[in-house]
Amino acid sequence: MTAPLLAIRNLSKVYGEIPVVDRVSLDVARGEIVMVIGPSGAGKSTLLRCVNRIEAPSEGEVVLDGVNMAGEMRNGKLVPDPATATARKRRRIGMVFQRFNLFAHLSALDNVAIGPRRVLGMKPAEARALAAEQLARVRLSDHVAKRPAQLSGGQQQRVAIARAMAMKPEVILFDEPTSALDPELVGEVLAVIRTLAEDGMTMMVVTHEMRFAREVGSRVVFMESGRVVADMPPAKFFSDSGNPRVAEFLARFHAS
Ligand code: ADP
Repeated sequence: MTAPLLAIRNLSKVYGEIPVVDRVSLDVARGEIVMVIGPSGAGKSTLLRCVNRIEAPSEGEVVLDGVNMAGEMRNGKLVPDPATATARKRRRIGMVFQRFNLFAHLSALDNVAIGPRRVLGMKPAEARALAAEQLARVRLSDHVAKRPAQLSGGQQQRVAIARAMAMKPEVILFDEPTSALDPELVGEVLAVIRTLAEDGMTMMVVTHEMRFAREVGSRVVFMESGRVVADMPPAKFFSDSGNPRVAEFLARFHAS
């Protein structure tokens, strides 16, 4: 077996006294699409936020391609990174949020180009070319000059995806990327994520879109109360998980 691209080891996040993520371990192989499913409050979003260190985990570690996200191992001990190194490592893990968080005063093109310019130090022309390329990839070439307010929610989310991709991440994390959208706009965003999956992008996707999870996922991880309760291929998860917690969740989900 080859080493996983992303290894999450015994990760916990405690707020107050409550473990919201409770000793989660997951290996994600290069090119794998891990769908993270579970009831509200299960800790799915917190897990993703700990993976790219928007939140610092309380325990455990995240290792990306052999590199510990929190620091360097020296003589068997973790020496925490300085902030600059943390920022550099975090760039390797992209994130797309439920709310798009675009800059309202910038065009779609500039929203995508600003990261490569400011963070990767690209020249303006080079960053704009990269932004145009990424916006074409999410099928927004006709809208590059528009500001967020002139775009639909689905288009804004596609800009956010292009923005994340422009940083050339090795893994991309999606935290309920369609749940803030009107139902008629969900499909265009899922279609874009599906193309990235087909292009071999490694991703973890927190989603309530069951059909999408089934069709696009290479694995489903089911979380409840901060723990991973099931981890299996989608076909098995949706038809024959052998797990009563999963069966109950899916039954409730389909009934609502
Ligand atoms: P999910 O994404 O599965 O809905 P979350 O990770 O958003 O779950 O939240 C899990 C639990 O952690 C919830 O009970 C939530 O209220 C709590 N929680 C999340 N963020 C914080 C925080 N910053 N401080 C305290 N509690 C939090």
